[in-house]
Amino acid sequence: MAYEALYTRGRPKILSHLIGQEHISNALARAISSGRLSHAYLLVGTRGTGKTSTARLLSKAMNCDRVHEAQLAGRTLERKEIPCNKCDACRNFDSSPDNVEFDAASNRSVEDVTRLLSTAYLAPLRARVKTFIIDEVHMLSFEAVNSILKLIEEPPPNVAFFLATTEVNKVPMTIRSRCQVLNFRLIPQQTIAPYLLKLAGRLNVTLHEDAAKKIARLAEGSMRDALTYLDQCYAMADTEITLENVNETLGLISDESLDEIISAVTAKDRAACGRAVTKAFQSGLAANSIAEALITRLRDIEFEQLDDGKNFAELDKIIDAVRQATLEMNGSGIPDIILEMTLMKLAAPVQTFTAPPMPAQVLPSENLDAGRKIFYDVIKFLGEEDSTLNFMLEKAVVMSFTGDALTLGFKGEGVAGVFKRHQQRFEQAAEKFAGRAIKVSVVVDKNLPPPVLNQMTEPARSNLVGAMKVFNASDVTKIND
Ligand SMILES: [Zn+2]
Repeated sequence: MAYEALYTRGRPKILSHLIGQEHISNALARAISSGRLSHAYLLVGTRGTGKTSTARLLSKAMNCDRVHEAQLAGRTLERKEIPCNKCDACRNFDSSPDNVEFDAASNRSVEDVTRLLSTAYLAPLRARVKTFIIDEVHMLSFEAVNSILKLIEEPPPNVAFFLATTEVNKVPMTIRSRCQVLNFRLIPQQTIAPYLLKLAGRLNVTLHEDAAKKIARLAEGSMRDALTYLDQCYAMADTEITLENVNETLGLISDESLDEIISAVTAKDRAACGRAVTKAFQSGLAANSIAEALITRLRDIEFEQLDDGKNFAELDKIIDAVRQATLEMNGSGIPDIILEMTLMKLAAPVQTFTAPPMPAQVLPSENLDAGRKIFYDVIKFLGEEDSTLNFMLEKAVVMSFTGDALTLGFKGEGVAGVFKRHQQRFEQAAEKFAGRAIKVSVVVDKNLPPPVLNQMTEPARSNLVGAMKVFNASDVTKIND
């Protein structure tokens, strides 16, 4: 049997199934019981909060035989009875020609939409009430909006409209003022998580509570998103879904990895910070996803500790810096490095002036110049396309070159880690320039003298890089010698 997505299976069948929208389901149950239903509803809310589901339930209820009987008898209906889902009208609802549904955001032509709307003037074929459910109504063309306006101003008998939108401010006031407006709320995490646990129970899957909470948090108020995420994890899992499964399936970074970065930064431990950042990058996530996850994690930590009366100045500083870094990362060719440098800077110990460390002795080597030539040739060659590698001009020091072994020095674990991710490509290119296989080793030494480019102020550095281009220079370190 084909697998049916949870999103489809979890779709509400009665008003009491509408999770997190009790204010709406209660009001609708009262309106249905007293027969005070409107002929035009505007359903407003973020995606995945239950607008279309509610429209379908209401359309069905308007045609349900049992609901109709209760209305005639003056009996008050409970939410769980609306609709009955048993009578002929309910059972045939999904294939009913009297329920017209379309998404205004899809590429339907103006003629198509006009034709669909014009059927409102024809009497329903079988149903009591002919219903129109239009998603993303703010995307409709001017002509279609006018047709709808005409229809809800002077409605033909036995027709009801359900207009759903995520952007109510784009719906013309003339339409808004003629509809009964239903405002859908974002569904709180505390409502989504228990629902997911219940659903998993029904599927005979053990969903861990922390995993359910993580999915609920990611869904950001949308039940549809929550069910889609659970679906993805369910497809990958066996009979158990752990927090780790969720992180892996949805390509998320674990809270532990984020906490490692945060602790290293707050402890002002740059080495630990470098290691934690490198580890985070090894998860394969893009820098902006990691930055986003860091900000979310910091916000969560602050919320968790809100009642403890803690001072969040330090955490706020990290949030601000990472947010700033995110802006700089957009459109930049070196997002990894920007994030890494931001975090390393935050992890720098607060200190008063100390004398600069004595530069470590870079061992003279007969072949050092040849090693540098290979290094700059490769960076110039690869850096044309990859600005991360280009950045190595400012970060790497050629330490030694003997035979086929090139040693590069870096001041920090972080940058060394960035280089290592490109090492293979570097070595392949180096082989081309050297005419033989070159093995690169990486040394981290915080007392290394900076490469010459790094010692210059910005205009001088740009001038030098410009000059290098003009003269096709390949070995700038000679200036430093
Ligand atoms: Zn029914």
